[in-house]
Amino acid sequence: MDAPILRDLLAKSGAWLATKGLTNGRREAEWIFAESLGLSRLDLYTRWDMPLEPTEVAKLRERVARRGRREPLAYIIGTQPFADLMLTVGPGVLVPRPETEELIPLVLAEAPFGTRLLDVGTGSGAIALACAKARPDLRVEATDVSAAALAIAQGNATRLGLGVTFHQGDLTRHLTGPYGVVVANLPYIAEDERGVCDPELAFEPAEALFAGVDGLDLIRPLLADLRRMAPGGVAWLEHGWRQGAAIDALATTQGLTSRLVQDGAGKDRFTRVPVS
Ligand code: SAH
Repeated sequence: MDAPILRDLLAKSGAWLATKGLTNGRREAEWIFAESLGLSRLDLYTRWDMPLEPTEVAKLRERVARRGRREPLAYIIGTQPFADLMLTVGPGVLVPRPETEELIPLVLAEAPFGTRLLDVGTGSGAIALACAKARPDLRVEATDVSAAALAIAQGNATRLGLGVTFHQGDLTRHLTGPYGVVVANLPYIAEDERGVCDPELAFEPAEALFAGVDGLDLIRPLLADLRRMAPGGVAWLEHGWRQGAAIDALATTQGLTSRLVQDGAGKDRFTRVPVS
């Protein structure tokens, strides 16, 4: 049998992924092909008649099949762009989301020169590393409860040559302030929403996604520790788009005020809490 031609296998793969419920099946197939063959996406078109080696075909089929089972693309290709960084990701860490990128300029806009900034629940290190890259004056620290996440985050920091100090522990209990800025994109999905989530979420660590019956089991104690952690500073939280009112009520319980900020899709996604 003749070796398959790049164009044909790509077309077949894209069409097959579309049958698996992926709206951008063709484009996702292009990413998998480009990454697996060491080509740019443009190369896929200029070299469309390239015959593929059996080992290449096997690798492509395996990766396309994984995506068809709805494993996140970022786990399959091993990287995810975030802000102006390319992060290494893998099972054990949440794939950083595009809406979280919007948090970076909000946070940096009010980080005083040279201040200590803490990223709570850092995962792949996305927020901390983007802040360190954009603002070398900041003293950036990051913490997570998960050793697996911290290993990936530390690896990203080393590879990108960015200076972030990592800590391991539950929320902020093991840390000593004061920090000028605390930023947190912690798990915030309510347990009973497990069943209605995208199939991709089943591949991500549950402890990176779910936070009790109302999704606020982590944000609640974080808010309660803010006065100790960031007196005179500011905290920024990312959360579910229907949690704004509940978070405002929790902040009030702590004697703090809060302001909701919408994401690019117009959803109540972020809360700013000045810490008095
Ligand atoms: N901030 C990252 C990761 C978000 S996922 C991003 O935006 O991409 C949430 C992270 O919170 C996970 O890495 C999870 O391990 C961490 N986490 C969960 N419970 C925690 C706790 N009690 N203390 C600290 N981190 C926690």
